Amino acid sequence: MTAAALRTGVLGLAAALLAAQASAGRAAEPLPPLVALDVGHSHARPGAVSARGVPEFEFNLALARRIEAELAAAGIGARLIGADGLADDLFARSPQAAGTRLLLSIHHDSVQEKYLRPWTYGGEARRHTTHARGWSLYVSRRTPREAASLACAAAIGRSLAAAGLPIARHHRDPATGKPRPWADHAAGVHYYDNLIVLRTAEVPAVLLEAGVILHRDEEKLLSRDAYRAKLARRIVAGIRRCL
Ligand SMILES: [Zn+2]
Repeated sequence: MTAAALRTGVLGLAAALLAAQASAGRAAEPLPPLVALDVGHSHARPGAVSARGVPEFEFNLALARRIEAELAAAGIGARLIGADGLADDLFARSPQAAGTRLLLSIHHDSVQEKYLRPWTYGGEARRHTTHARGWSLYVSRRTPREAASLACAAAIGRSLAAAGLPIARHHRDPATGKPRPWADHAAGVHYYDNLIVLRTAEVPAVLLEAGVILHRDEEKLLSRDAYRAKLARRIVAGIRRCL
């Protein structure tokens, strides 16, 4: 190797190192949050308890983290709300979505008391249902961002439905006592006007019930990382369409 060739080689190596450092620097920079992911419930108020005794909050947090990772892979920053499990004030959640373009509140579903049946799991008396399974989405009409909220909810719902993931039907059932009217039947979106996190939001806001954790088979699916990843991919595909 001549001196000139060596110099070129060294310079090339230095340039490659600089480029690698710059790209590592870029990767380390946090993405500006475009989506707020509200982790439903808290340690003190954990929501529903699954058929096998796992609090809803744990399902919500695991799915929110999976969606956050999927958004990051798509170059979209997210801000988690309530991930520490300490957010007990429902009115303090939506203000934390300020500056983002969508608030997505993550929940897992139950059914009415009358549809719960006793069973024993791990030596403990538990309850389960065969009445309902599937996901559902909610928007409020009591927000100035109703149209944008519905557009995002419908985009997420169409993406989930297109993957063959079943829509829960029990929230339209008059027998539940509080039927939630369809906002977009084919996309699995209901109106739930008074939900605090939705009606207090100043950005478009959607609530997702990802599945029924009182349904033993669906709970098993929702506990698997591969299934969460599938849900997250479909949810993020819908979010990308509406953003
Ligand atoms: Zn919930």
